[in-house]
Amino acid sequence: MKQEAIGIEQLLASLPKYYTDEDREIVKRAYELASIAHANQKRASGEPYINHCVAVAGILSDLYMSADAIAAGLLHDVVEDTDVTLQEIREKFGASTSSLVDGVTKLEALPRVSHNDQEDLEDDEAKLTEEQLSRRKKLLGQETLRKTMLAMNKDVRVIVIKLADRLHNMRTLSYTKPEKQRRIARETLEIYAPIANRIGIGEMKWELEDLSLYYLEQEKYKEIAAGLNERRAVRTQQMEKIKKRLAQSLADAGIQAEVSGRPKHIYSIYKKMIGKDRSFDQIMDVRGVRLLVEDKSVCYATLGIIHSQWRPIPGEFDDYIAAPKENMYQSLHTAVMYEDNKPLEVQIRTHEMHQHAERGIAAHWRYKEASKQRDEQYESFLSALRNQLDIKNEDMNADEFIETMKNDVFDEHVYVFTPKGDIIDLPKGSTPIDFAYHVHTDVGHRCRGAKINGKLEPLNYVLKTGDRVVILTTKQGGPSRDWLNPSIGLVKTQRARAKIRVWLKKQAREHNLAQGRQMLEREFHRLGLDEINLENLARQLEYRNPDDMFVALGCGDLSVSRIINLISDQKTPEDIIETSAPKSETASSDAVAVRGLRGLLTQMAKCCNPTPGDPIVGYITRGRGATIHRADCPNILRSSTNEKERLVRVAWGDAAKTYPVPIRITAFDRQGLMNDISNLLNNEGVNITDVNVRVNHDSLKADIANIRLIVEVRDLVQLSRVLNRMENLSNVLEAQRSKAG
Ligand code: MN
Repeated sequence: MKQEAIGIEQLLASLPKYYTDEDREIVKRAYELASIAHANQKRASGEPYINHCVAVAGILSDLYMSADAIAAGLLHDVVEDTDVTLQEIREKFGASTSSLVDGVTKLEALPRVSHNDQEDLEDDEAKLTEEQLSRRKKLLGQETLRKTMLAMNKDVRVIVIKLADRLHNMRTLSYTKPEKQRRIARETLEIYAPIANRIGIGEMKWELEDLSLYYLEQEKYKEIAAGLNERRAVRTQQMEKIKKRLAQSLADAGIQAEVSGRPKHIYSIYKKMIGKDRSFDQIMDVRGVRLLVEDKSVCYATLGIIHSQWRPIPGEFDDYIAAPKENMYQSLHTAVMYEDNKPLEVQIRTHEMHQHAERGIAAHWRYKEASKQRDEQYESFLSALRNQLDIKNEDMNADEFIETMKNDVFDEHVYVFTPKGDIIDLPKGSTPIDFAYHVHTDVGHRCRGAKINGKLEPLNYVLKTGDRVVILTTKQGGPSRDWLNPSIGLVKTQRARAKIRVWLKKQAREHNLAQGRQMLEREFHRLGLDEINLENLARQLEYRNPDDMFVALGCGDLSVSRIINLISDQKTPEDIIETSAPKSETASSDAVAVRGLRGLLTQMAKCCNPTPGDPIVGYITRGRGATIHRADCPNILRSSTNEKERLVRVAWGDAAKTYPVPIRITAFDRQGLMNDISNLLNNEGVNITDVNVRVNHDSLKADIANIRLIVEVRDLVQLSRVLNRMENLSNVLEAQRSKAG
């Protein structure tokens, strides 16, 4: 290993000619920043850290990625490991490079799809055939790629940089501790290589697989490598003859073809030996050649010539030009009996198809400016990727494609990262508690706080795609009953709710009873409801007695809000405000305001069923107040003179009637408290008609703020929700309805 740093001249000299002077200038500046930032750091191998950055940049330039991506490759570790900030990268290299670095930094590793998917997969693996198994693995790879792209919300180049990083780490894995080697190799084989294949970078896939095999099955690897070595001389000679013979035959037919042997990859030999149970010699008997020709029509002409000279082996012909593989791989495959009576596999494709086979999506970058036709190729590649990821709209460019992928699923899901970098998908609106229960039931029970992207956030934080979530747990204890309170919005998923209920049910009856009673009393007190008949209430809810109702409350089978709803339905709004605020002019229980006859009991006529907005009239009935009819109701139009005297003019009341209620909030004073309160009310659509804030500075510990508000609520249910949410604002000690107006 080199102990000195690779210099900038060496890096620039290694860049393909394709890169312009302008490109080289960007690469040079990125190198300078990276080498200063990593100046004192070393790799496990003992060589300067910058050599890793240069190696990654080299892999990217072999793929002809753009200069800003190579710069990102050079800088891929600076944000995490040095003092350099994203801000600085943005200022010096622009938004594209900085967003690539940001993406690579956030995506610590290519994630596995959530633990649970993984578990499901492992469950019955034993029962599956090899074909089913590999199909599942493929789907998992596709799912990983899809979710990774969604979660990163960035372009696919982030993944290519991540792959380049991993490739160099694999190349230098021998310097790592043995137990770590196996873990990293397995991860590479299971996640990184399939993703490389998925985006069609064959070159990378092969190398990642071979390197992984070396660390996972070292004996097998060495055996195959030795076998290859032993046969190399004979084989090379043999292949040279075959290549010459083919080239001659084609030249005779007027076809220009580049003929090459196909490199044998150790992992693919290993797989054939294991999977098809063949010996090494049997596999080596199969020779393969690749013919690169000018265009598509020549591919088929070439095929014709090969088939006319040597006997095709039935069942071995595949036309991947007419029907490309899902990663856009195109080629003709056939096998013939060669003159030595051993099979010869032949692949025929154009140079461009070959570029795609080796570099996949990365092949585009080389050709970006070269020609329009090649851009069309890239578009068709993207459209294939779209298809395989099941995106419907064909007429999209790359940005729209990513955007659509987001919107498609983002309506329902968020994708967040575990501390290890695994991806978990949750329904939109999920909170840290939902996340905790998804990871593990026990983590859910013991969840007490959460760090989102390194910052402490409240438990009602709504998770966003791309968030990295760390759950802070207590050693023991269980979920709080508040978690089930929908007004507070701490739990979104049914799965978490169910687990919380199960836990609560396991608690002793007396405990649940006491908790339930306390919850309800507290809520009644808060809402200023004194005279509730608990016996009646329990009966209405179909419990034998109040105690049973309390137990149900305590274990989460019954919610406080259901009780408040019930009471709210029964109590007239006047009851709500009676004890608190003076009646306001607008307050009325009536859906219709009967002019001149305030407070008259009204009911809707069954004959014409008036709905708000219809012109209406009231008809005074004996003892029942007034019946409201549509003005054009036949019964009204036909009414006798006598009856007409009993008609009164009425009008619809305000659609959303509200009632003023005084509330009192006690809190440790803090900056922005009033602002949070008014935002909360604003979100609920609740008006404040009066505010009075007093801060008590005499308190020894902290300033206590006493806030009195008059708010306009629709009903008890809304009042209850608002008070609950207020109590969940940080620093708020108590929020309740005050008795004295
Ligand atoms: Mn790295």
